[in-house]
Amino acid sequence: IENKVLKGIEINKQQRYAFDEVVLATGHSARDIFYLLHEKGVKIEAKPFALGVRAEHQQEVINYIQYHGETDNPYLPPAAYSLVEQVDGMGVYSFCMCPGGIIAPCATQQEEVVTNGWSPSKRNNPYANSGIVVSVEPKDLPNYTPDDPFVSLNFQKEVERACWIAGGKTQQVPAQRMTDFVNGRISNDFPKTSYQPGIVSADLNKVLPKLIANRLRKAFVLFNKKMPGYLSKDAVLHAPESRTSSPVSIPRNAETLEHIEVRGLYPCGEGAGYAGGIMSAAIDGINCVDAIAKKYQVV
Ligand SMILES: Cc1cc2nc3c(=O)[nH]c(=O)nc-3n(C[C@H](O)[C@H](O)[C@H](O)COP(=O)(O)OP(=O)(O)OC[C@H]3O[C@@H](n4cnc5c(N)ncnc54)[C@H](O)[C@@H]3O)c2cc1C
Repeated sequence: IENKVLKGIEINKQQRYAFDEVVLATGHSARDIFYLLHEKGVKIEAKPFALGVRAEHQQEVINYIQYHGETDNPYLPPAAYSLVEQVDGMGVYSFCMCPGGIIAPCATQQEEVVTNGWSPSKRNNPYANSGIVVSVEPKDLPNYTPDDPFVSLNFQKEVERACWIAGGKTQQVPAQRMTDFVNGRISNDFPKTSYQPGIVSADLNKVLPKLIANRLRKAFVLFNKKMPGYLSKDAVLHAPESRTSSPVSIPRNAETLEHIEVRGLYPCGEGAGYAGGIMSAAIDGINCVDAIAKKYQVV
């Protein structure tokens, strides 16, 4: 990009290809791309996002709660759940709940830990995990200034690094039994977890920023009213769940889908702030291609 005109793409500072239209869909963890755009004077903005922990129960506990004790019915699949509460002015909600699932290490850089979850197609793991996250606006964050596009990203990075340190500077993550977290006690031992690199006992109230930890504590108590048994000593919190969505957005024209200042650049998918999940990212890709076809009157 030169003087807000897109010239094409360059690969590893070696090959250059001239293009008039480029779809930029590098995902929400390509921080180097956000820094590159900012360096080149391409407008990007801080975005609201959500951050918290991955909670893991035994799947049979979730089945028991959701099926009201009817756990031996062979026709019922491993149960899912969806929870949401407003706590002290912010939303706290379950995200990407994985029945019969596994918590996976998902860091993308050195000196950070990140968790996420997935389920095998049979959903037959003995665990049920879910992100439990607090919705944050850039203006809620410490160090907020209106013009800083990196305030959310820096917050995300700080939490991921703090968890890496608390976890012993490996891919182990800091963890706490849910009841211990709510009562501010360190956990002395843990049930088995699906998180393969392992967990280290820590008080997540001290590892996570107060604006997150305080709301999570209250949310677990409220969630337990909706799903009695959810707040359990056998549920383990793994920190952090921090990649729910992009902390940065790349603004685009609502009609042409081009960047608001750079013609020919199509910010696309989750990293640009226009999708959350596989389907919406795929659809946004189709929308961008359609927008280009429309420009050339192919359709
Ligand atoms: C463990 C896990 C489980 C998930 N489970 C689900 C689920 O069950 N359902 C669901 O809807 N969503 C799920 N998601 C989220 C889903 O994967 C994302 O929402 C979706 O992939 C976003 O699509 P995207 O195309 O915007 O970005 P991505 O899929 O992140 O694609 C971005 C691509 O750009 C590439 N890239 C980055 N930088 C560069 C560069 N400089 N040059 C060239 N290429 C680059 C990356 O390598 C990547 O291939 C899960 C995510 C994880 C990590």
